[in-house]
Amino acid sequence: AKGSGRSTYAFYSQDLTNQARQRVELGTALRQALEQRQLVAYYQPVHCLRDGRIIGFEALVRWDHPDHGLISPAAFIPAAEESGLISSIDRWMLQQACRQIRGWLDSGRSLDFVAVNISSRLFTRGELDLHVSQVLAESRLEPGYLMLEITESAVMEDADAAMIILDRLRELGVRLAIDDFGTGYSSLARLKRMRVHKLKIDQGFVRGLPHDPENAAITRSVIGLAHNLGLSVVAEGVETAEQAAFLLEEGCDLGQGFGFGRPCAPERIEWDLERMH
Ligand code: C2E
Ligand code: CA
Ligand code: CA
Ligand code: CA
Repeated sequence: AKGSGRSTYAFYSQDLTNQARQRVELGTALRQALEQRQLVAYYQPVHCLRDGRIIGFEALVRWDHPDHGLISPAAFIPAAEESGLISSIDRWMLQQACRQIRGWLDSGRSLDFVAVNISSRLFTRGELDLHVSQVLAESRLEPGYLMLEITESAVMEDADAAMIILDRLRELGVRLAIDDFGTGYSSLARLKRMRVHKLKIDQGFVRGLPHDPENAAITRSVIGLAHNLGLSVVAEGVETAEQAAFLLEEGCDLGQGFGFGRPCAPERIEWDLERMH
C-alpha cells in the first residue's frame, strides 16, 4: 500500500510539474504574441435598458493565434497574471481603447465611454494614474470617456490602499466601475467611501433571472444599493429579452450581453441595432 501511495504521489507531482511547465511556456508565447501584435481588442456594446441605445463599450482582449485562431482570455489570462505580463496587456488595451474612442469621435460617432479591465496587478502596482494620463494625452481624449473596471475582489483585497488609488484616478477625471459585483465581500461602509461611478452585476446573478428567486433578490438589492449610493448599474450576461425586461422593471440602468451583442472587432459593430430580438 505504501508503494502504491508513493507512485500515486510521483504521478501527481509529475503532473503538477507538467502543468507548471505549460504555464511557463504559455507565458513565453504570450510575450511574443504581444510583441508580434497578435493580441486584438474586441468591443462589446453596453446598452441603455430603457431605449436600447448603445451607450458605451467594454474592451475585451483576444489572442489571434496564427495556428489556433482566436483564443479567449479565459485560456491565457491566468498565465498572464502569473507571469506578470497581464500589466503589459492591460496597458496595451488601455492604449488601444483610447485610440479607438478617438477614432469613433473623429468619425462622428457618439458614445459615453469605453470600459477597460484593470487587473489587480496593474491596479496595485503604482503609477497607474500616470500611465492613464499619458495614454489619454496621446489620444487627445477627455478623461470622462474612459471607464476603468476593477473587480470587487481586487478592490477589497486591501481596501485602504485601493481607496488611495481610486481617489487619484477619480481626480484625473476617468470613470470607475466595480466589476463582478456581488462575488466579493464589500462592506457597505467601504463601498460608500470608494466613491466609484458604476457597479457591474456579475453575470452569475443575471443567469437565472427572472425565475431564480435568490438571484432575483440579489439583483434587486444590488440595484437598490447602487442607486442609494448614487451609482449606476450595469447588468452583465444579459442573454434574453425576459432578463432585460426584468432588469428594466427593477430599475437597472444598463445592460450588456449576447442578447444585445457579442464582443466583436470594431469594424463589425452594429451601431443602429436598437432592440433585442
Ligand atoms: P469580465 O470582465 O467579467 O467580462 C465579461 C465576460 O463575459 C466577457 O468574456 C464577455 O465576452 C462575456 N459575456 C458577455 N456577455 C455575455 C453573455 O451574454 N453570456 C455569456 N455567457 N458571457 C457573456 P471574455 O471576453 O471571454 O473575458 C473573460 C474575462 O477575461 C473577463 O471577464 C475579464 O475578467 C478577463 N479579461 C478580458 N479582457 C481583459 C483585459 O484586457 N484585461 C484583463 N485584466 N482582463 C481581461
Ligand atoms: Ca469587465
Ligand atoms: Ca464582469
Ligand atoms: Ca467575470
